[in-house]
Amino acid sequence: MQHFPIFLALSERSVIVSGGGEAALAKLRLLMKSEASITVFAATPAEDIVRLSVEGRLVLVRRALRAGDIKGAALFYAADEDAAEDARTAAIARAEGALVNIVDNLEDSQFITPAIVDRDPVTVAIGTEGAAPVLARAIKADLEARLPATLGPLARIGKAFRKMAEALPHGRARRDFWADYYFDAGPRAIARGGDAIDQALDDLLQRHLDREAAPGHVAFVGAGPGDPELLTLKARKALDAADVVIYDRLVSTEILELARREAVMIDAGKEAYGPSTPQEQINLAITTHAKDGHQVVRLKSGDATVFGRLDEEIEACEEAGVSWHVVPGITAASAAVAGIGQSLTRRGRNASVRFLTGHDMKGFAEQDWADLTRPGAVAAIYMGKRAARFVQGRLLIHGADRATPVTFVENASRVDQRVVASTLGTMADDLAAADLQGPALTFLGLAPRAARTALADHTNSLQKELA
Ligand code: SAH
Repeated sequence: MQHFPIFLALSERSVIVSGGGEAALAKLRLLMKSEASITVFAATPAEDIVRLSVEGRLVLVRRALRAGDIKGAALFYAADEDAAEDARTAAIARAEGALVNIVDNLEDSQFITPAIVDRDPVTVAIGTEGAAPVLARAIKADLEARLPATLGPLARIGKAFRKMAEALPHGRARRDFWADYYFDAGPRAIARGGDAIDQALDDLLQRHLDREAAPGHVAFVGAGPGDPELLTLKARKALDAADVVIYDRLVSTEILELARREAVMIDAGKEAYGPSTPQEQINLAITTHAKDGHQVVRLKSGDATVFGRLDEEIEACEEAGVSWHVVPGITAASAAVAGIGQSLTRRGRNASVRFLTGHDMKGFAEQDWADLTRPGAVAAIYMGKRAARFVQGRLLIHGADRATPVTFVENASRVDQRVVASTLGTMADDLAAADLQGPALTFLGLAPRAARTALADHTNSLQKELA
């Protein structure tokens, strides 16, 4: 983030604009939404600017800006529509301590003005670091259409009612009240008009005060393989409602950012061979927060029921008398197999598929190796990187064909997904050579479908036909 967004208090601060043409006017229209006192320096101001000064909405100084004019101003806009004049006025402003924006000159500006959706006091600022003004405008148009015009009044009335709402206990109860107000009772009352809104707020508060505090609850939520679009709608809802999120190391940051801003985020990172949080401590964190009346989301990568020690955590909830439910997620094997364009089962090839772990609590995990050597057998091996040489050795000893395809899929579903195609005979060396740093799934018995080659061949033959 090259530009850090903030909302600046401008009442009783001064903002200075140099320039009297269209560029200056465009900035002035925005600035006049603020409470700043605005001064414009322009030798030949446009009519609209003169009118604004006559209306007393800004101070117009009919000459070019010079040293000493900035005097403690917070912001300065160089809108001279002339590069040399912009450079001259900006240098004065910078020397005199104002933050400088030069219209249409991102490089020499110290701040930029975002595209704004104005539902005062609700303000949405959109920035693209100057990279894509068209995109910013499209997002703005989208939000303009989506945010009701009544949002401003609702928020203003809501703000005045904040003190009253403190009668409700902090946290969930208060949040539920506001959710009801903004998305249900509030808009209905505004539509009725008159004093309906004050009465509606009083009634709503009373109803919420009469409610019994909701008991705590634990949702075991599968976060999927990493791509936020592979979260289920139920997972999103659970994250929206969470007071506390206890997450695993593999849950991607994009997904963690979807949790409510006020949610307490607890890292229960467990690394196969690194520092980790003991399971008992995780269990305790889950049950303690739920017993405190919080909505707890226990967020696990992929699907919570696959190599996730879910049962131990459920048992801890049962023992503590805490209610729970499971939200299924997309497991790494599903994402990885999609990434290589294959399916996990296939008529005539394999009527069953196994999910294996490369290691368990005791070390490398033993499996029914003889069964895995059968032609067409398919297995998805989780946590299989370190166990690659062990798995390879065991399978070869049991007589598996060295040419059996083996595929590693690192960071499945994420932008940095990588696929390494190999065979049983060379898998350990190929894996070492690939130096995969992210989580990886190993497929035994599956090779990537050669989609790219097929596509390339197809394009080539098309080109030949056309030539
Ligand atoms: N519950 C998870 C698995 C947890 S075990 C699930 O259902 O996916 C952790 C292992 O999952 C990792 O060692 C790796 O083998 C696999 N894994 C998790 N996310 C992955 C991803 N995005 N790409 C490839 N493998 C992944």
